[in-house]
Amino acid sequence: MNVHGYAAQSATSEIAPFSFERRELRSNDVLIEILYCGVCHSDLHTARNDWGGTKYPVVPGHEIVGRVLETGSAVGKFSVGQIVAVGCMVDSCRHCHNCEAGLEQYCENSATFTYNGKDRHDGMPTYGGYSDRIVVSEDFVLSVPDGLDLAAVAPVLCAGITTWSPLRHWKVGPGSRVAVVGLGGLGHMALKLAKALGAEVTLISRSPGKADDARRLGASEVVISTDEVQMAAVKGKFELIIDTVPNMHELNPYIPLLSTSGTLVLVGFLGNLDEMLNTRPLIMGRKSIAGSLIGGIPETQELLDFCGEHGIVSDIETIRMDQINEAYERMLRSDVKYRFVIDMATLNSNE
Ligand code: NAP
Ligand code: ZN
Ligand code: ZN
Repeated sequence: MNVHGYAAQSATSEIAPFSFERRELRSNDVLIEILYCGVCHSDLHTARNDWGGTKYPVVPGHEIVGRVLETGSAVGKFSVGQIVAVGCMVDSCRHCHNCEAGLEQYCENSATFTYNGKDRHDGMPTYGGYSDRIVVSEDFVLSVPDGLDLAAVAPVLCAGITTWSPLRHWKVGPGSRVAVVGLGGLGHMALKLAKALGAEVTLISRSPGKADDARRLGASEVVISTDEVQMAAVKGKFELIIDTVPNMHELNPYIPLLSTSGTLVLVGFLGNLDEMLNTRPLIMGRKSIAGSLIGGIPETQELLDFCGEHGIVSDIETIRMDQINEAYERMLRSDVKYRFVIDMATLNSNE
């Protein structure tokens, strides 16, 4: 079927209108009319080939909320008209150890990502949510609980799950002391989710202007990372630090802030560190540095249900599809409160 979307044609071109083919429904597929799609910093990294490996044209977008238009003959979980969501993955091998454990993001045979991936059956490229419709196997489609703002729920599918997964893995709960580095899309969801789990949460930011927002989002304290006095005052405090910084940065200032046996989990920057890591504070306090990738399908549904129960959604700025290039520039300046979401009804109205 022919669908409309927006794509980057090269690392230096703007995101622009693009029509392309999606597969006809297989028996276990769901056809979804996309209502809203969040704008993740990973969309920008991929469109501009920051990580290498982007295949053009690329249609970004992996924070998708929509309505079921049609279901394949064997689909059992979803029906026409239902509000559903799709995150960063649309398939995986389904039989490896990790897939069986519900950790499809770590599929030993590589998960199929929502964009810049390759369909496991027909080898066609996967195209993401900057488009009017998407076809996804029902096992990778999530249910959206009633009562949540549909535009604001979209970022839960990546920004939310990427911070929820480490919060759950490191067993954050009442009384835990958690710090979040960087108040952007991921960071603001981390504050909300950690607070809702009962933790005492601190934001570590370069931006003093974000302090009031951070408190409103759940932080009890704000530390400016460039202020050595403020950083020293929270030495040894945190059991878990979630670092969402998207660029190369130094980790050495953050390690001393961990308590004994604490963990700094990296979810933002992908690549080599520029400063050598000083192992002394790690060894002297049995501290860990870890990484974490999005979350599995069962965990993503758990998060959506948690958001439904607690009334948690993202703080968003809704944009038209044709504002996407401007949104990327603003995201690079950390000028977004705190996630852009595309209203997909604006896609075809501009053509
Ligand atoms: P974002 O909205 O742009 O937020 C990033 C925040 O980091 C900024 O608001 C800023 O906060 C801080 N920051 C930016 N540049 C910095 C620098 N040079 N040094 C220190 N702090 C800096 O981005 P996002 O969508 O939250 O994504 C964050 C990163 O996570 C991206 O690299 C993205 O690709 C990655 N990601 C990873 C996963 C995963 O599965 N691991 C999933 C989704 C996204 P302050 O102004 O508060 O300092
Ligand atoms: Zn993302
Ligand atoms: Zn697998």
